[in-house]
Amino acid sequence: MKKGVLIILSGPSGVGKGTVREELFKDESLNLAYSISMTTRSPRPTEHDGVDYFFVSKEEFEQKEAKGLLLESAQFVGNYYGTPAENVEKLLNEGKNVVLEIEVQGALQVMKKRPDALTIFLVPPSMEELERRIRGRRTEEDTIVQERLGKARAEIATKDQYKHVVVNDNVFKAKNSIALIIKEHQEHA
Ligand code: 5GP
Repeated sequence: MKKGVLIILSGPSGVGKGTVREELFKDESLNLAYSISMTTRSPRPTEHDGVDYFFVSKEEFEQKEAKGLLLESAQFVGNYYGTPAENVEKLLNEGKNVVLEIEVQGALQVMKKRPDALTIFLVPPSMEELERRIRGRRTEEDTIVQERLGKARAEIATKDQYKHVVVNDNVFKAKNSIALIIKEHQEHA
């Protein structure tokens, strides 16, 4: 069986990665599987352990990392995030196209290990729109919002390291652009 494609989807906090990802996963022709990350961040009210993330303690995270069980890891606004490696390999071997929705530091680590990965960076139509979206979420205090905005600017500055940059001005348009990128990549792989 043909191995699946490893897909990295990055973009600043609030750009709408989660929503675009949901639309992508509705399209069965893309044959996608989601890599559930591990994090030390607390769950948001709508999130579930083992579905959105594996929510773990700092100790557990550090143990997994020390054992070399993570494909990549990063600190983001005071919490650890990482991709459990074993599941990614299993899904790729099953022929699934595996989506890692991760931030830039982790993405750069994966690009080094796996230069064949299909890397996509989502950008907002403008910084004003991004701020509006981050504030609209209302789940975080102002200092965290400011931190996430600062981080967003720094992340956007690295977008040229990705093979594709897609503007998320409309979720369906962004989904369609990414779907096309995946299909074209598969045809040429
Ligand atoms: P959030 O706290 O908003 O869910 O995620 C914060 C950032 O961490 C987002 O940019 C998200 O894509 C990223 N992220 C989620 N999981 C991982 C992971 O496993 N590794 C890395 N490097 N970043 C992650």
